[in-house]
Amino acid sequence: MSSLAPAGSGQVAAARKIVKPRQKPSSPVKCERPKFRIVVDVGHTPDSYGALSARNDPEFGFNFRLARLVTARLKSEGFAATRLLVTDGKARPSLFKRVGAANDARADLFLSIHHDSVPDKLLETWEFDGASSYFSDRFSGHSLFVSRQNPHFATSLMLARMIGRRLKEQGLHYASQYTLPVMGRYRRQLLDMDVGVYRYDGLVVLSRTRSSAVLLEAGSIINRDEEMEMNSAERQETIAGAVAAGVGEFCERR
Ligand SMILES: [Zn+2]
Repeated sequence: MSSLAPAGSGQVAAARKIVKPRQKPSSPVKCERPKFRIVVDVGHTPDSYGALSARNDPEFGFNFRLARLVTARLKSEGFAATRLLVTDGKARPSLFKRVGAANDARADLFLSIHHDSVPDKLLETWEFDGASSYFSDRFSGHSLFVSRQNPHFATSLMLARMIGRRLKEQGLHYASQYTLPVMGRYRRQLLDMDVGVYRYDGLVVLSRTRSSAVLLEAGSIINRDEEMEMNSAERQETIAGAVAAGVGEFCERR
């Protein structure tokens, strides 16, 4: 999450002035699985890879593997128009590129996949594979983020809750630290304390997408145990299944 730059407040204000009047949310269309356009966004890029795990593996790789699995799972459950979105280039331009790609594709749903770390001040050092490396075992769990600036905030929140509930049903717990002062500028408002949905208004990929949008931090890769779990095929299947079940429920209710 750390290098996911929020939109600058000046830019947001400017965008609001220009965009808001013509960005009226269209009325939700009925969800037909084969036609429902879901964009599964791989967080970060190969060049700007996001966080580094406790064992020095880039977040981008974790995001890519899980997002690919989520895409396959959604397709196998009838969402034939699901698309995996991989973006290249530097961090900040890539955020606008992915939003542009989703909006151009007239996505009905934007789902961004990430893996979590901690603020730098919480990092501790250990030796892995002969190299001095960073870790923090203090926090673990997944978390879901939505933006009030998204034109479909309520719908996005509903979807995030459905995914969160499915993850909880699988016995997974959410990362509760985002409300704590120790998180500093990463501190967030908890919108659903049962299943771990947070509010992150300024996040580019959530606020600039015209469709409903949810960001999933699937788990912490800076936590040494959880990194290993996130690497396991079993955990990846569990999460992909929970996401697909949440999206399926979301589709049924529309
Ligand atoms: Zn990330």
